[in-house]
Amino acid sequence: MKTLQASDHLVLSMESVKRYCKECEEEIHGRRDKRFCTDYCRASYYNRANAEATSLMRRVNYKISKNRRILARFNPTGQAKIAKQKLIESGLNFDYFTNTYKSQTGQVFYFCYDQGYHEMGNKYVKILARNKVKD
Ligand SMILES: [Zn+2]
Repeated sequence: MKTLQASDHLVLSMESVKRYCKECEEEIHGRRDKRFCTDYCRASYYNRANAEATSLMRRVNYKISKNRRILARFNPTGQAKIAKQKLIESGLNFDYFTNTYKSQTGQVFYFCYDQGYHEMGNKYVKILARNKVKD
């Protein structure tokens, strides 16, 4: 009778846990840290993940660019006060911006690239171009 060697035991324990490809869900053979059955599956998994991220970024960039265009149209001199309703009617999406800026007086502006706005109560919005920021 063959005695069980330490190396035999290692092989047995490695095979006892079945692993499945993250892409095609086929069983994976070979190295324990393998997550895909083939290079093909690995590539298609990451290509798809990348395509989804790129598509999301494109949609977000489009919304922010549109916001910037709307703000710039109402702000020819770099500083403007406008009825909030006009911005809403123009299609400004208040949920999308690139960054915020707090003025020395504590007003928070939401910037879409170089055009920022600050809501003055419920009815008016102050628009400020980046080059007019005094800080
Ligand atoms: Zn696979």
